[in-house]
Amino acid sequence: MNAAARRAAPDFQPFAGQRLAVVGLGRAGLPSAHRLIGWGASLLCWDDNAASRDAAVAAGLPVGNPAEVEGFPFDALLLSPGIPHIRPKAHPAAVAARAAGVPVLCDAELLYRAVRASGSQARFVGVTGTNGKSTTTALLHHLLDAAGFATEVGGNLGPAALGLPLLGDDGTYVLEMSSYMLERTDRLRFDIAIQLNLTPDHIDRHGDMAGYAAAKAHVFDNQTSGDVAIIGMDDESGARFAAGRVARVVPISGKTAQPGGVWAEGRALRDDAGVIADLDAAPALPGPHNAQNAAAAAAAALALGLTRDEIAAGLTDYPGLPHRQERVGTRDGVLFVNDSKATNAESTAPALASYDRLVWIAGGVPKQGGIAPLAHLFPRIARAVLIGQCAPDFAATLAAHGVPHDILGTLAAAVPAALDAARAEGVGVVLLSPACASFDQFSGFDARGDAFRALVAALPETV
Ligand code: ADP
Repeated sequence: MNAAARRAAPDFQPFAGQRLAVVGLGRAGLPSAHRLIGWGASLLCWDDNAASRDAAVAAGLPVGNPAEVEGFPFDALLLSPGIPHIRPKAHPAAVAARAAGVPVLCDAELLYRAVRASGSQARFVGVTGTNGKSTTTALLHHLLDAAGFATEVGGNLGPAALGLPLLGDDGTYVLEMSSYMLERTDRLRFDIAIQLNLTPDHIDRHGDMAGYAAAKAHVFDNQTSGDVAIIGMDDESGARFAAGRVARVVPISGKTAQPGGVWAEGRALRDDAGVIADLDAAPALPGPHNAQNAAAAAAAALALGLTRDEIAAGLTDYPGLPHRQERVGTRDGVLFVNDSKATNAESTAPALASYDRLVWIAGGVPKQGGIAPLAHLFPRIARAVLIGQCAPDFAATLAAHGVPHDILGTLAAAVPAALDAARAEGVGVVLLSPACASFDQFSGFDARGDAFRALVAALPETV
């Protein structure tokens, strides 16, 4: 039986005879559990939340607390990425697994095992780094798809890895890998591993920067000399990640030449052979940060056999991801940009840096440090429109730097006010990049971004 037939056969049961504990029955956990049962595993499923347990029972899944089963008699624990297995406090199931010497795994690991058990040599690309993971993952998938390659995308970006179809030898999985997922891999070997950048994040989970870097470095685990390690060189972590790699290292940068790699020179994306694409022709990839993401995706695409022309075409018509500098509309020549995903000053910085002059909508529940770290970008702000809990604090910071601003309170009031300000100042861009969490007024950054999109759509065409 060839690999495709084996995959399609109802008796394709790569996990037959294995007993798995599945903890965390959310967006990824439930479909993963069903898939694993279909693939022959016997499961015990658990969630600390009673409503999630009830939903699992209703869906016909076997529910019970594996941490309470004597000796933890499982072959592996599939633990949701959101649930800690070490810091700040290990979940009891992870404690029990560790005591019994049972591996804690993520769903990407199990997908990899199933794909290989089917006989498929489909390629795996893993994308990690502190910022730009989702963009680089979605962009690479788009480049492959637009060039006619068989490809699936998922992981941290969603859909869950175990929700993806099985691909044949010609297929490529592009998986966004968080540091939490990377700590839960074992045999998974990425043909192409991408590490974009490293700045302090999730230190509560990883202990310190060294722990965080060590988690990211797992993206290179199991690589051999035939594999590729694409490494961002724009911060000091790059040289450290590159040192001693077994795989072929391809350095990438959004700003400096990288012989043997891919980099941006101004807005020209290039390698040693010359210019690959003009990023000014890629409207969904504004700003220097996206030059880094584009360089990484292009380096991977070249390694996977795409032509330079295919890469240039794919960059140009990449549609972008919702809530990440998403262009949601124009009114009277004023472009409205939804960057609701930016919940701290660090992720707002690249958005502000993408426009020479703009009206900025910001605010919500502030993160430590507020917007003071953005002061070097304040000269670009023609006027700031502030919403949410932190508006008075942000107003004080802006006033100290002489930035004109208004406190509007709600997004519904801010959007028309921002358009008025843009018209009055003769500015072409209104940017929502809140530098804040949204929970004072919205259920999450996506609800905030959706509201912004709807408010822009509701603005009258001309007044
Ligand atoms: P992630 O999945 O790693 O959170 P995203 O692609 O979703 O990253 O981008 C989230 C935000 O982070 C973007 O809105 C942008 O402000 C910022 N960002 C994106 N790419 C980069 C990068 N390469 N370097 C620094 N910041 C970035």
